[in-house]
Amino acid sequence: MFPIAMNLQGVNAEVTAAIEGRGARFSAPVHLVAVSKTKPEEQIRAAFAAGQRQFGENYVQEAVDKIKALDGLRGADGIVWHLIGPLQSNKAALAAKHFDWVQTVDREKIALALARARAEAGLPALNVLVQINVSGEQSKSGVNVNDVTEIEALAQTIAAQPSLRLRGVMSIIENSADEAVLRSQFVLVRGVFDRLRERFATIDTLSMGMSNDFAIAVSEGATMIRVGSRIFGARQAPAPEVAV
Ligand SMILES: *Cc1c(COP(=O)(O)O)cnc(C)c1O
Repeated sequence: MFPIAMNLQGVNAEVTAAIEGRGARFSAPVHLVAVSKTKPEEQIRAAFAAGQRQFGENYVQEAVDKIKALDGLRGADGIVWHLIGPLQSNKAALAAKHFDWVQTVDREKIALALARARAEAGLPALNVLVQINVSGEQSKSGVNVNDVTEIEALAQTIAAQPSLRLRGVMSIIENSADEAVLRSQFVLVRGVFDRLRERFATIDTLSMGMSNDFAIAVSEGATMIRVGSRIFGARQAPAPEVAV
């Protein structure tokens, strides 16, 4: 078996164990997004051949090149593309035309730019997550987890756009070796998700957890995890500071 297929099998087995471990508290299935940023097209094909369907990319232009090259993998039970990196408004139109999901919407201006471009493209509604900043780190994007008014206003704006579909929330939590810290941050994001779900019927997605902590995220109710290096290996180049 190819390493990527083996790695996927390992991750999926850990997800299954974490779902069993958490018992009946949470019932939604858990979707794995394979994060392929900086990785070549052949590795995405290998993961696809092993059954993986959802892929996450961070940089709009890099992603659009791959999405076009892999156009043949689209279709029924085909590849699904998630934008998980920060989005500048000058890239919103490009993102709206090529991705199926945008997980990093944290302000109204971006939401409206995506809505306009998606409507013009005549594509089905774009799936959107509101990004929540739970660690309080300035360097991280997202609406502050304590800013309930802002979170609800943004959710309302997204829900009002026919060309967008409000699916839930995503968060990149602090990178910590302390499991209690990770767990407490996942619980805070879960709280936002639960609150919004009471108001918006289209919400079903809680995206949290990466290579180092996805099992904990699943145990705290994640319905979507974003895993890169555990599937594709360590990334060579350091990620650029600024979205390109
Ligand atoms: C890179 C990235 C991931 C995956 O990170 P790994 O640690 O390689 O699993 C997940 N989510 C976001 C938003 C990322 O930028």
